Amino acid sequence: MTSTSESPPDRYAVAGNPVAHSQSPFIHAAFAAQCGHALQYERLLCPLDAFLPTIQAFAASGAKGCNVTVPFKFEAFAASRRRSPRAELAGAVNTLRFDEQGWWGDNTDGLGLLRDIEGNAQFPLKGLRVLLLGAGGAAAGVLGSLMVAKPAELVVANRSVAKAEALVQSHQAWAQAQHVRLQACALETLPDGAFDVVVNGTSASLSGAGLPVQDHVLRKGGLGVDMMYGPSAQGFLDWTRQQGGQARDGVGMLVEQAAEAFQLWRGLRPDTGPVLHALRARLSTPG
Ligand code: NDP
Repeated sequence: MTSTSESPPDRYAVAGNPVAHSQSPFIHAAFAAQCGHALQYERLLCPLDAFLPTIQAFAASGAKGCNVTVPFKFEAFAASRRRSPRAELAGAVNTLRFDEQGWWGDNTDGLGLLRDIEGNAQFPLKGLRVLLLGAGGAAAGVLGSLMVAKPAELVVANRSVAKAEALVQSHQAWAQAQHVRLQACALETLPDGAFDVVVNGTSASLSGAGLPVQDHVLRKGGLGVDMMYGPSAQGFLDWTRQQGGQARDGVGMLVEQAAEAFQLWRGLRPDTGPVLHALRARLSTPG
């Protein structure tokens, strides 16, 4: 797997639009250094109407794979010839490996979130009530993995309720297999009672919109996770603390999902702890 001194380093990228803000190059460079692998990892800005040709050209140039971010995860799913079961369940792909027999599509977002919640934050989900806000690519990517942790109940709430219903429908058989009560609802019609965990998978704060839920949705002592990080996550994190909850941004998920992608490409899993620590320090440094 490791490049030799005669061969150029293997090349990877994060493909998205926008992509300039992505921390993935930093994370993968740190993983590579830790594992002693020589690789190059770049940002690949794809025109909104030209995801596939951009990725095809990248693969044809000899690259080995790429991560896929907003808004192309559904297109990446369609572009994969073969997919992991978790990508099939999600209907979305965030990691491509350019195999000779056809592109392999995977989705590492869900396991990344789960590892961050249950591993890094030490907050086991078994038997709890979990609320997932949003029904876009990020929510689709994590729903199946959240159920592996066997919460008692999982509610998917979205501004466009039809999208939440479609997501729940496509995951209903999986929910039954995991013995999880799964239901969809609108943001305004959440079922009664506070939730133990609220995961914000919406991009509401990017548009300057307020919090998508009312107070008292999260129980005191519960966990509030925003998949976003940086200033965009601040409103949700503040709200979580006002509810008496434990607040967590999306940096841990980002590093954990990247580690899964690295393992898929390079055959070994890096130690995420030091990289998460370094990334938090980097993000808290002005400029
Ligand atoms: P999408 O564009 O696919 O979906 C956006 C979601 O946000 C939809 O459910 C949408 O609702 C909802 N939404 C947007 N604006 C509002 C609003 N004003 N009020 C309420 N709901 C709103 O984006 P993704 O799902 O791909 O990504 C969501 C966020 O998660 C992004 O910010 C992304 O950066 C982050 N993310 C972080 C990861 C990490 O590793 N930390 C990994 C993946 C994503 P509707 O359907 O009604 O339009």
